[in-house]
Amino acid sequence: MMMTAKETDMMDRSLGVFLGLACGDALGRPVEFRTSHGIEDEYGTVTEMHGYGSHNQPAGTITDDTDLALCIARSLAENGEFDGEDIADRFVGWYDDGPFDIGGTTSGAIRRLKTGEAWDSAGRSEWEQSNEGSNAGNGSLMRTAPYSIAYTDDFGAILDYSLKSSAITHADPRCQASCAIYNMVLADLIQGNLPFDVAIGTYNLAARKGDVPESGEVMDAITSVKTGEIQGRRLENSGYVVSTLQTSLYHGLTADTAEDAIVNAVNMGGDADTIGAVTGALAGARFGASSLPDRWLSEIDETDEIRELVHTLYEFSSN
Ligand SMILES: [Mg+2]
Repeated sequence: MMMTAKETDMMDRSLGVFLGLACGDALGRPVEFRTSHGIEDEYGTVTEMHGYGSHNQPAGTITDDTDLALCIARSLAENGEFDGEDIADRFVGWYDDGPFDIGGTTSGAIRRLKTGEAWDSAGRSEWEQSNEGSNAGNGSLMRTAPYSIAYTDDFGAILDYSLKSSAITHADPRCQASCAIYNMVLADLIQGNLPFDVAIGTYNLAARKGDVPESGEVMDAITSVKTGEIQGRRLENSGYVVSTLQTSLYHGLTADTAEDAIVNAVNMGGDADTIGAVTGALAGARFGASSLPDRWLSEIDETDEIRELVHTLYEFSSN
């Protein structure tokens, strides 16, 4: 099938979302939990896929961020639509394989799924017994990008599925709102539109109608990037979802190249793989997969499957 120039660009940016996510995840993996100063002392600046380090894995190894995004993408591709129960089953299967990296909220919710709790209540139960400070991590944001590829031109679907998909493990309104807005920003970038305005407007309208939870904190964080006000303020490298979204939007949308965006994000340390992954999808959506360094992509084993899945999900939007 012949593609128009616009479609070729959209495909390259869709591929960029998922491959950028994997690049950021794998580049950040060896320096997860490190401070930016500790990274500087040991590596100077991390610009290559290093082996060993945190989690002691070979160079180019992806972590839970990409693994769980793959669970979602495989489910969408095989079912042709969102199926929360099937996605939850795939999370359980991944958990049973014994991943080397897993977040506390994710493992808590998956253990509830394993005891037979339903896909649309396990995350809420986990959230209800979590304390402020450990109840709004970035574990659903890091895996949510496939919805932006499958539903690029359908913000209603993006809102609905981002919220439901987050709540499988992360039911906090800040996590749900972050996933939805992030996916709308990615979809805007895939279409070659300026991000933010439509995403923020769509979310606020849905919140006024009571369709989605309000989250002033998430809106403030996004607005500070949109207005440029965040510059000069200290960006956070923690696993708090609002910080991860803000830091990643800043790096993903202000750097001059995809490589710079991902390198800047990862070298902050802290939750380096996830900040790298969330930034990487944004940078890949902005600059396209063709802008991602071959020396990174060639180290990652999953790129063929990712390309295949993106082609399948891309068809959802163009049908
Ligand atoms: Mg990880």
